[in-house]
Amino acid sequence: MQEQPSLFTAQKFLPRTKRITYSRITHTLSILGLSATGVSYSDSKGKLHTASIHKNGEIIVSAGAIGSPQLLLLSGIGPKSHLSSLKLPVVLHQPHVGQFMTDNPRFGTTIVLPFQLLPSAGKVVGILQENIYIQSFAGPSTFLVPPAFSLLPPQSTSINPTLASFVGKFSDVNSKGWLHLNSSLDVKKSPIVRFNYYSHHDDLDRCVRGVRKVGDLLKTQTIEKIKTQDLEGEKAFMFLGLPLPENLWNDSSVKEYCKKTVTTYWHYHGGCLVGKVVDGNYKVIGIENLRVVDGSTFSVSPGTNPMATLMMLGRYVGLKVLKQRW
Ligand SMILES: Cc1cc2nc3c(=O)[nH]c(=O)nc-3n(C[C@H](O)[C@H](O)[C@H](O)COP(=O)(O)OP(=O)(O)OC[C@H]3O[C@@H](n4cnc5c(N)ncnc54)[C@H](O)[C@@H]3O)c2cc1C
Repeated sequence: MQEQPSLFTAQKFLPRTKRITYSRITHTLSILGLSATGVSYSDSKGKLHTASIHKNGEIIVSAGAIGSPQLLLLSGIGPKSHLSSLKLPVVLHQPHVGQFMTDNPRFGTTIVLPFQLLPSAGKVVGILQENIYIQSFAGPSTFLVPPAFSLLPPQSTSINPTLASFVGKFSDVNSKGWLHLNSSLDVKKSPIVRFNYYSHHDDLDRCVRGVRKVGDLLKTQTIEKIKTQDLEGEKAFMFLGLPLPENLWNDSSVKEYCKKTVTTYWHYHGGCLVGKVVDGNYKVIGIENLRVVDGSTFSVSPGTNPMATLMMLGRYVGLKVLKQRW
């Protein structure tokens, strides 16, 4: 329960909400029968507290795509086999909690520029079919070269190359993963999460198309300027990390490139999907007085950055709750 946009939004629309900041739900939600009744949490000094809901009250969990399924599992709401394997009492067998974990793979390339540039915010440079978004970023980046690998004295081992990144994301990812608890007692022990990047061939095909488009971009006249000249006078891109495959029409080498360079866009979602774990009102199916409102309910993350959509989700549900209660 830290200060987050979703909490501010909830408080704005639910004036009788008491805000408790810098606290952590330590273990579980209290559930009597199939009704959520309270939460136990520790404050910033580690002191334990419990909060119980009033009549007609409810608990709204907004702990994110990793925290919310983790809390539900720790509270005994999840796949029976997983809970039983950790000797956790099963409150509700809910096979979909912690399932459909999804992360949009980030693909593309980063080039070291032969000149300095001021930092620029990410820009969408193109949207291809099948919701493939290509973005560009540029600006200085600081690398600290470890002294052991540097010929320069330690105080001068900081270099500031200017980098340009051409990266892409696609919104509806087919490769799905899972989240399992790593501890049945300690909420601070991060759960184990697998996103299974590119386990679905459609995702790999989309990466190939996206990487080809980045390759097309690098062939344009404007981008010629970011090539670096070597000692023989030859101009070439100075790739940071793995260079783009030379033959972008060779499917297998581009697929290999996608797999080797896969990284996150930090837009992971899933674990408590609408229609699987929560209903259309974001209420946990099968449990009274409990909602999940955050990115864990998303089956798809929007093409670019998801924060605005998430804030609007908080507002949307906040207004709904307000209408129902007052
Ligand atoms: C490095 C990074 C950069 C990003 N950049 C952007 C960007 O530029 N633009 C954009 O739109 N999106 C960006 N995102 C994505 C965006 O931040 C997330 O998609 C969004 O914050 C998810 O919102 P959420 O409400 O689902 O979860 P979160 O924002 O993660 O909120 C969940 C909160 O619950 C807290 N919590 C978890 N467990 C517990 C517990 N047991 N007890 C109490 N509190 C708990 C967490 O500490 C967290 O504060 C970025 C993400 C990352 C990681």
